[in-house]
Parts: sequence; structure tokens; C-alpha cells
Amino acid sequence: MNMAKQPQQAVVTGGGSGIGLAIAQRLASEGHAVTVLGRDIDKLRQAVSDIQGGKMEVCDVTDKASVKIAFGQIGPVSILVNNAGIVSTAPFHKTAPETWQQTMDVNVMGAVHCMQEALPAMKEANRGRIVNIASTAALKGYAYVSAYVASKHAVLGLTRSLALELAKTGITVNAVCPGYTRTGIMEQSIKTVAGKTGRSAGEAEAEFARANPQGRLIEPDEVAAAVSWLVSDEAASITGQAIAVAGGEVM
Ligand code: NAD
Repeated sequence: MNMAKQPQQAVVTGGGSGIGLAIAQRLASEGHAVTVLGRDIDKLRQAVSDIQGGKMEVCDVTDKASVKIAFGQIGPVSILVNNAGIVSTAPFHKTAPETWQQTMDVNVMGAVHCMQEALPAMKEANRGRIVNIASTAALKGYAYVSAYVASKHAVLGLTRSLALELAKTGITVNAVCPGYTRTGIMEQSIKTVAGKTGRSAGEAEAEFARANPQGRLIEPDEVAAAVSWLVSDEAASITGQAIAVAGGEVM
């Protein structure tokens, strides 16, 4: 069995935009049958038109019942990329309980729901690849995004625990931890910082880029390349890892 060469059934959550779209395109270009799963039907339609042989499922990952229905439609999956995620920026004392709940619901429970639906078929086949798109925020703290950082630390803890639980199977579970990456989420953060500090968008972007020792934002394709390797057969012994794609920001 060669997971690098044999086409697999893959699901990418939040695959309608940004990093998820780049991952979906990359996996499809490698011959995998890719379903993008997300909330926004227009974004998904556009994405599917850009993904060779791509399919879509409209689904909010926080809704366990919808996730179950979506995975029922898709059928057995051997690659699951939990990429759907949200971030909101505020000082800790202004971060409302609703923000905490929503952030944990999407970033943590969304991945939990999808893994619980995907795992039975992976276990039966005794093979599978789960990649959780965490963040450098799973490996270090950042000010003014406490809920996001806590949720990404939780994703990494979940990744490590599940990797151990599944270590005797052919299923691996890993996290990819991008630094600041050029996507919609990033544009939103740049606008927020510019709005709150009176700096221009260019200055705010340069501030984010400075966090990366290479002095630049990460490109979504660079994250997709790491995922491509982790889902390959060659990465069978890589499990429970946090792979930073961040130009040396964490080490
Ligand atoms: P993005 O906003 O383009 O992508 C997030 C996707 O998740 C969107 O398509 C959105 O519709 C989807 N989504 C959100 N809530 C959902 C829900 N409840 N159900 C289903 N889909 C939902 O942003 P991105 O930068 O591409 O982010 C992708 C992932 O990468 C996120 O988990 C994010 O935390 C992580 N990440 C991003 C950066 C960055 O700088 N851009 C850095 C590190 C990690």
C-alpha cells in the first residue's frame, strides 16, 4: 500500500478559502479525491471549480449532527485535514465568554466532531492520515488573542493524545503549525491592527512579517506542501508531531 501514489478519499474542512483551499488543490493535484467541507456555499462552489475532481459538502463543523450527515454522504475517508478555524482579536479582559465558546467550538470541537466521524472507517481499513492545522499559536503565546492561542494549544494536545491512542494502527495524527500566512484571516487581522493602532495596512503587515525571522508572511502553498508530505506513505512513522511552517519563528 502506498499512500503517496494511491488515490485516497480526502476531506479538507474550511477548504473553501485560504490555507484549506491550497491544501485541497495540492491533494487533488496529487490524484486524491478531495471533498471541501465548509459553511459558505458560494465559496465552496468557487473552490470546487478550482479543484480537479473536487466535491463539496456544506456543513458547519460545530454542529455534530451536520458533520455526521456530511461524512455519511462522503463515505469512508482516509485523509482528514481539520483546517476550519476562526480568530478574534481583543485584550483578555474584553474577550467575552461567547467569543471563548465560539472559538473553542470551531477550532477544537469542530476537529473533534470530524475525527469522530472519520475514524471508524480509518480503523477498519487500518490506515489513515489526520492533519490538524494548528498554528505557531499552539507552541507559544501571543498577546490579544488568548482564546485563539488556548484553542490551538488544545488542538495540539488533542493531536498528541490521539496519536498515542492510535499508534498501533496505521493511522497517524499530526499538527501543522503555520506562522502568519497570507490569507483572509490574516487580512482581517491586518485591518484590525491597522484600525486599532492608526497604522497603515502596509505597516501592520510589516509588523506581522517581522515575527518571522525570514521577514515575510508564509504562503498557503508552503503549508499545503507540509500536509502533502504528512499524508504520504513515507511519513508513516511521523505521528503526534507539531510541524512548524514559520520561517524559524519557533524552534
Ligand atoms: P480562512 O478564513 O481563509 O479559512 C478558514 C476557513 O474555515 C474558512 O473557509 C471558513 O469559512 C471556515 N470555517 C470557519 N468556521 C467554520 C465552521 N464553523 N464550519 C466550517 N467551516 C468553517 O483563514 P486561513 O488563514 O486559511 O485559516 C485556515 C486555518 O489555518 C485556521 O485553522 C487558522 O487558525 C490556521 N492558521 C492560519 C494562519 C494565518 O496566518 N492565516 C496562521 C496559523 C494558522
